[in-house]
Amino acid sequence: MKFNTKTIHGGQHNIDPAYGSVMTPIYQTTTYSQTSPGSHKGFEYSRGGNPTRSALEKSLASIENGKHGLAFGSGLAAIDAILKTLKPGDEVISTSDLYGGTYRLFNRIFKEFGIQFHFVGMQDAETLVSHINDKTKMIWVETPTNPMMSIIDLEAVAKVSRKHKLLLAVDNTFATAYLQQPLDYGADIVMHSATKYLGGHSDVVLGSIVVNDDSLAEKLYFIQNASGAIPGPMDCFLVLRGIKTLHVRMQRHCENAKAVAEYLKSHPKVQNVYWPGLKTHPNHDIAKKQMKDFGGMVSFTTRDNSYEKAITFLEKLKVFTLAESLGGVESLAGHPASMTHGSIPKTERENTGIVDSLIRLSVGIEDKADLIEDLEQALG
Ligand SMILES: *Cc1c(COP(=O)(O)O)cnc(C)c1O
Repeated sequence: MKFNTKTIHGGQHNIDPAYGSVMTPIYQTTTYSQTSPGSHKGFEYSRGGNPTRSALEKSLASIENGKHGLAFGSGLAAIDAILKTLKPGDEVISTSDLYGGTYRLFNRIFKEFGIQFHFVGMQDAETLVSHINDKTKMIWVETPTNPMMSIIDLEAVAKVSRKHKLLLAVDNTFATAYLQQPLDYGADIVMHSATKYLGGHSDVVLGSIVVNDDSLAEKLYFIQNASGAIPGPMDCFLVLRGIKTLHVRMQRHCENAKAVAEYLKSHPKVQNVYWPGLKTHPNHDIAKKQMKDFGGMVSFTTRDNSYEKAITFLEKLKVFTLAESLGGVESLAGHPASMTHGSIPKTERENTGIVDSLIRLSVGIEDKADLIEDLEQALG
């Protein structure tokens, strides 16, 4: 089955044996009747499993070319479950340009439980090797990174990971399975904040994990049930519905982001544009090799690098909404230095490129002419 069919039908046969409803019903139930103790139709209690969630989990596995899918109450709950496969004393090597909430979970929660984290720029996979020792258990990768849109070569990192018998986990939130399927490049775990592009309509918070290995899946299912950070059936339904249009939305996100990136690139007030589809992007060749297109996220800086003018620009936007989050049908704009990355000290922040004028855009699927006109008036 091709990807654009999988988003709609992947893992979705036998949806509703009761009435043949085409859409998966929302099984708003906690428990399931048994004819005799232990004798049931596959579901006992909704923390352990729910038919709507199960349909979503099969869809997630299908679009990521994986065997096992698991859904969680949020992206961070999914990451939390992945980290719980580790033990005190274990070490993790992570990309340094990382989603702020993931960094906080690693450094403020799991560090307290005795897990060590090393944050490394992985544009050159070989730099990983010097951080590997006999306690290293996992490599954590985000690509494209947030908000600098650096691209990590998944095949190269997977090679290092395999050689040293580590688990490679990839946060695929920014790219989605439409643009890249990390398991195909040798990753062991692919994780999503489905809150973003998979849900796609800014109306649901949910997280997911997909793996191939049976014993790893079993461990994660145990954690999912034992720790209990599961999503409700209504939220599963919304993400399942979102996935059905993922390919159509992503196509338009990419098309619009290209137009926005090219417009910004030619604007006299703009200094740098970070979008992996531009030939001038330092990782353009790797992006071209491992991604189908270049995604809907664009960051840029202005020549004056003024904090105040960046704020004024954001206040002037009319079509773009000033807000956290990304991946919805509507265009959003954010200011990493004061919003998502505000808690990082200025010098440290600027070392990773998050200067005062950096603006991050989640380019939506509106008409691109309206988006460019909006940017034009706000930059003016
Ligand atoms: C939003 C996000 C998360 C966290 O997901 P939630 O659903 O908000 O918990 C993790 N990684 C990335 C890249 C994100 O954008």
